[in-house]
Amino acid sequence: METAEIRRRWLRYFSTRGHTVVPSAPLLYDDPTLLFVNAGMVPFKPYMLGQETPPYERATSVQKCIRTLDIDEVGKTSRHGTFFQMNGNFSFGDYFKEKAIELAWELITRDQSDGGYGLDESRLWVTVLQGDEESRQLWKRIAGLPDERIVQRGLADNYWHMGVPGPGGPCSEIYFDRGPQYGPDGGPEADEDRYLEIWNLVFMQEMLSEVRTKIDFDVEAPLPSKNIDTGMGLERMASLLQGVDNLYEIDEVFPVIARVEEITGKRYGANPQDDVRMRVIADHVRSGLMLIGDGVTPSNEARGYVLRRLLRRVTRSVRLLGVQDPSMVDLLTVSKDRMGASYPELETNFARISQIALAEEQAFTRTLSSGTTILDTAVASAKSAGETTLSGDRAFQLHDTYGFPIDLTLEMAGEHGLTVDHDGFRRLMAEQRNRAKADAKSKKVGHADTSVYRALREPGITEFTGYRELSTDSTVRG
Ligand code: ATP
Ligand code: MG
Ligand code: MG
Ligand code: MG
Repeated sequence: METAEIRRRWLRYFSTRGHTVVPSAPLLYDDPTLLFVNAGMVPFKPYMLGQETPPYERATSVQKCIRTLDIDEVGKTSRHGTFFQMNGNFSFGDYFKEKAIELAWELITRDQSDGGYGLDESRLWVTVLQGDEESRQLWKRIAGLPDERIVQRGLADNYWHMGVPGPGGPCSEIYFDRGPQYGPDGGPEADEDRYLEIWNLVFMQEMLSEVRTKIDFDVEAPLPSKNIDTGMGLERMASLLQGVDNLYEIDEVFPVIARVEEITGKRYGANPQDDVRMRVIADHVRSGLMLIGDGVTPSNEARGYVLRRLLRRVTRSVRLLGVQDPSMVDLLTVSKDRMGASYPELETNFARISQIALAEEQAFTRTLSSGTTILDTAVASAKSAGETTLSGDRAFQLHDTYGFPIDLTLEMAGEHGLTVDHDGFRRLMAEQRNRAKADAKSKKVGHADTSVYRALREPGITEFTGYRELSTDSTVRG
């Protein structure tokens, strides 16, 4: 079943059951706690909190999401994209646990010839929060699941919150057993690659006043109403229904890999390391396309830097596959041709999108060629001195003189088996910043201190901290 059809069925199923279809919000959303929209509920948060009156009691959407925290998983696990689409159904004080479970179970198990997804019931598992006896009983009664396929897990896995003060509640997740060829028996606790998490049902019921860690938070009060927030990974469902191994091989993503095969002359499936690179390219090209499409431009500021990092990884991965020629626009075109059906604005914006991505590719190609020689020399001299760490000085020099971003130095040094003195690097960066500040103080222009702007203009001066500091990202859900 094509991804577009899975999406259509979702929206049809929920709209015929009283849900208003709400279009995806843009990836850049006005929520100061987030870098990007990372879950379907984000645009509905004010309704959950009772800050705004919802214009409907039930809604459904297919929301574009970016999860920067998953970047290191991409290409290595079978199930993480930096961009993905989250199908959701929501109830604002209308139905709660029982109906949410009924709706979910019916849709995934109903025959494909009858509008459902037709998953084999005997391969489905669910999890509930330890102590949530009500949900456990509901799954037994509604789905007829045996006790051993209703797993009870703790707060870390089955309590949802945003990582910051806001709404939260217990959740219940649905997993599909892909079979013994993917890992050991034993349910989701044993292996999350074999047991693929497809759908999370969140019973959003309380307001958290403080969140210290995933499992350490204060519940302030019940929310004004009990709400349902669910999220099903569209690409994950597509990988199951298309019978492919991972979400990079589905119809919306794989054509980019196929194009990479053509331009590199390498075959996907021939070499595990090259396969990871091809999957990274396919994922990041799509994320880049969607981000630029939604108005993000590469920069050294947190959001722009996420985009910059994704595009640079594409360029570097293509180089590592042996191709020196520009390829960004070519790959973006393939991705746009697949995504354009669901997001027609990509077609109209494509000239602008490709121009922005091309400029980034060109700039980075220059950086790469000057910096790589220096890095190789530094690695060789560290190795011949019997060292296993590249000094902070070296990393700083690469950054300062050659515009080599620290994450690239870390990645490339790692490929040579070296670590980097990241603390030393940070210290030198801080010293440089302080010097710049002192300098700026003596040169204040009128009432405006322009040091901030100058710092941002200087290439690479802002060290990227966005993943840690701004994004309350994918770890927040179970
Ligand atoms: P995982 O444990 O696999 O990282 P998650 O628990 O972080 O997933 P949720 O926050 O519960 O995911 O999001 C709801 C659904 O969105 C998941 O059940 C999954 O189907 C999908 N999803 C989450 N993260 C990704 C991702 N990076 N790429 C593709 N789909 C995702
Ligand atoms: Mg996750
Ligand atoms: Mg989850
Ligand atoms: Mg999970």
